[in-house]
Amino acid sequence: MNDIEHRIEELTKILNEANYNYYVKDLPTITDQEYDKYLRELEELEEKYPEYSKDDSPTKRVGGEVIDSFKKVYHEKPMMSLSDVFSESEVILFDERIKKEGISPKYVCELKIDGLSVSLLYKDGVFVRAATRGDGVVGEDITHNVKTIKSIPLKLNKKIDIEVRGEIYMAKKTLEAINKERIKNNEKPLQNTRNAAAGSIRQLDSKIAAKRNLDAFIYHLPNPEDYGIKTHMEALDFMESLGFKVNPNNRLVNNINEVLEFIIEKTDTRSSLSYDIDGIVIKVNNLEEQKGLGFTAKYPKWATAYKFPAEEVLTKLQDIIFTVGRTGQITPNAVLDPVIVMGSTISRATLHNEDYVKEKDLRIGDIVSIRKAGDVIPEVVEVKKERRTGLEKEFIMINKCPICESILIKKDEQVDYYCVNEHCPSRKIEALIHFASRDAMNIEGLGEKVMEDFFNFGFIKEVSDIYLLQSHREDLTRLEGYGEKSIMNLIAAIEKSKDNSLEKLIFGLGIPHVGSKTAKILASNFHNMDNLMTADFDSLNSIRDIGEIIAKSVVDYFLEEKNKNIIGRLKSYGLNMEYFGKKIILNPFFSGKTFVLTGSLQIYTREEGKEIIESLGGKTSESVSKKTSCVIVGENPGKKYEKAKELGIEILTEEEFREKINL
Ligand code: NAD
Repeated sequence: MNDIEHRIEELTKILNEANYNYYVKDLPTITDQEYDKYLRELEELEEKYPEYSKDDSPTKRVGGEVIDSFKKVYHEKPMMSLSDVFSESEVILFDERIKKEGISPKYVCELKIDGLSVSLLYKDGVFVRAATRGDGVVGEDITHNVKTIKSIPLKLNKKIDIEVRGEIYMAKKTLEAINKERIKNNEKPLQNTRNAAAGSIRQLDSKIAAKRNLDAFIYHLPNPEDYGIKTHMEALDFMESLGFKVNPNNRLVNNINEVLEFIIEKTDTRSSLSYDIDGIVIKVNNLEEQKGLGFTAKYPKWATAYKFPAEEVLTKLQDIIFTVGRTGQITPNAVLDPVIVMGSTISRATLHNEDYVKEKDLRIGDIVSIRKAGDVIPEVVEVKKERRTGLEKEFIMINKCPICESILIKKDEQVDYYCVNEHCPSRKIEALIHFASRDAMNIEGLGEKVMEDFFNFGFIKEVSDIYLLQSHREDLTRLEGYGEKSIMNLIAAIEKSKDNSLEKLIFGLGIPHVGSKTAKILASNFHNMDNLMTADFDSLNSIRDIGEIIAKSVVDYFLEEKNKNIIGRLKSYGLNMEYFGKKIILNPFFSGKTFVLTGSLQIYTREEGKEIIESLGGKTSESVSKKTSCVIVGENPGKKYEKAKELGIEILTEEEFREKINL
């Protein structure tokens, strides 16, 4: 057996097993997204290699098997499934495929109710039988349970013979209440509304189904011609007039753009519905046109289901690898089987540190759920322990740097491990990338990959080498993947960065504990690099927002000869060393104190007053408290003035304030 045949067999086995657990036992063992992914893979393989495609393949069968406990029901017209699409572009493709048949249809958009489909039969307007879809041709008789669903009429408004089809579902609130009760009784909670509904309807004892408070929407009329109906929308109206519950969100639209609008609208508002939906169903409205389009073995060609992207998906944790940051910090990272989460492919996620991995009890080979935290950064949510096979490998924290092999250390009581080897290449590259990054020197074109290349080829060993790149211009253009134009643009971006204001350079140097905000505070207080380099601990520590740790870190950084030399070189290459923003000139009266302005000021406006205080190293606040150092009062001061007096806080008139400014 070759690899293709082998994979087809493997996928068939996975899907058949999943079908059985989902449709027969109502206890799925894999997620719908995993199921859909495997099914697509199998469909693609069968299309490419039809010689290996089998008649009983899961790609050709609808639903699951029918179990013997129920009476069997034969569907005169098969109950089909729906083809599915997962993106806007696939929705457009669906429309184009239909247009190729020479029609330009109107569509009916419906919510895809996450439940199980049902066929209802009425004779002379009286309910006689309900059946599940089963394998599409033979279903199970569930009449006894369906009778307990209050929204399914036992008698219609007209004495006619009719079959209708729809979806039985459980409201979200009902599932919540059931699970609350189950947890109280130490029973396992039901997984989701779909399985809860399917499990309830396939009970032999209708008392259980009655307690489950199920509901149903009707959306399909299999024999419309018997009633002179010409469009799907008419069929929906007709069924509503007979007394069936039809979804009020159904909408007739003129073209595919309006379909896309419906999808966007309902994607945004789906969480406010009282029941779960897993997508949008799109159906050609005109029944003649539907007939012309026909069916495949499994689906009608005139309809499709757009499925919502999953917010949380499962995948396999293939490995845990370690990276070294510019500070030497070691981070474990999850290497994942690539999966699509909310439209983008995820194959890596940070695991932060040893404690995080141990807390989650992650093992290599585990099935884990992934989501995008804040919709951007991928995050491993939890391990699916029930999916463990026993072959998973325990996580072991490394004790040597994965790059330079020096022994890792833990600083103080911190959870992180560090590589303290300053010559560790990984730390160096990270530091260089940081220097060129957007919030630092913002050198466009000098991203991770380029920096790594230039480091590995020996063009850049430390940050000042960036400004010598132009002397290697010719060598650089000879490197694979670097054209003359890209090198010219890069050199222009490097030149431009020389004119950055001081705070960007301070941040770029990567002084421990100095983030971009702190860099700005330092620049606005010290105005130029020389002042900062010679600042002592006390003058740094006296600045508002700068504490002992940062003050010590800055002093230590500039004590090192190596760092002084780098700055010396940067200066000689023409980098700006001045701060361009509003400078703070520390005034001993204002520095580190909090001021409140009250009453109507005559000399300054409120804004001017605040700016002056801040430019002299003070802070302003809107309310008077024990923390207030001084209140400046204008004319007709109110409660703040009274409170300041009460608390014994220093009070200055505007005139006195002016005098202090000039101190
Ligand atoms: P489907 O759920 O993808 O779509 C077809 C069904 O949608 C119809 O049969 C009908 O019941 C329902 N539906 C809801 N609202 C509708 C509306 N307004 N109009 C028409 N139909 C509507 O297809 P399926 O064949 O029922 O199930 C296949 C899907 O079930 C898979 O794609 C997968 O997501 C899931 N599944 C999961 C597992 C698992 O192990 N997790 C196993 C089998 C199937």
